[in-house]
Amino acid sequence: MTKTKAVPKTSQAEYLRSLIRDIPDFPKPGIIFKDITPLLKNGEALRMVCDELAKHFQKQVIDQVVGIESRGFIFSPMIAYKLGAGFVPVRKKGKLPHEVERVSYTLEYGEDFLEIHRDAISKGDHVLIVDDVLATGGTAEAVVKLVEKLGGKVIGLAFVIELLFLNGRNRFSNIPLSSLIQYD
Ligand code: AMP
Repeated sequence: MTKTKAVPKTSQAEYLRSLIRDIPDFPKPGIIFKDITPLLKNGEALRMVCDELAKHFQKQVIDQVVGIESRGFIFSPMIAYKLGAGFVPVRKKGKLPHEVERVSYTLEYGEDFLEIHRDAISKGDHVLIVDDVLATGGTAEAVVKLVEKLGGKVIGLAFVIELLFLNGRNRFSNIPLSSLIQYD
């Protein structure tokens, strides 16, 4: 078993960045995929990511942490645990077994749907939305719509990685948004 030393706060982002691998042309030509699996297998880095993202929202009351399928599911339950909140999955079409609310969102080619259980959010619930990567922001925007449709109030958005050149954050001018690692 490897034990790693505590990393000074100032270099946390650089440390985390060193554990993210660029995979060119995956899953299609022209996309540089941010592979987080080297970060995930590093216990210290994994804990750092969850602790840091939770810390940004610890002063607020959060009732539910909504995770976006599929890599959002890795971090959101751990952040929920830290905040003493529940975890709610938002899934691709047809995966949730009970009554759902559905929203369409635009992908590079065409359109897809995301779903949430109708009883997952209660009116007035304070909600934090979590995903691994903020790219164009289309996915997270669709999830904000789902939560608001159910009467929830989105208190924040949390991402491990933000691709600044896609300006995804511009879609969320009224919602606090945190990311740990940014790429120009
Ligand atoms: P978007 O809706 O454009 O913000 O895309 C965000 C979703 O697509 C997230 O759920 C990410 O997991 C995934 N994603 C988009 N771009 C990348 C990328 N370059 N590397 C890894 N995942 C990505």
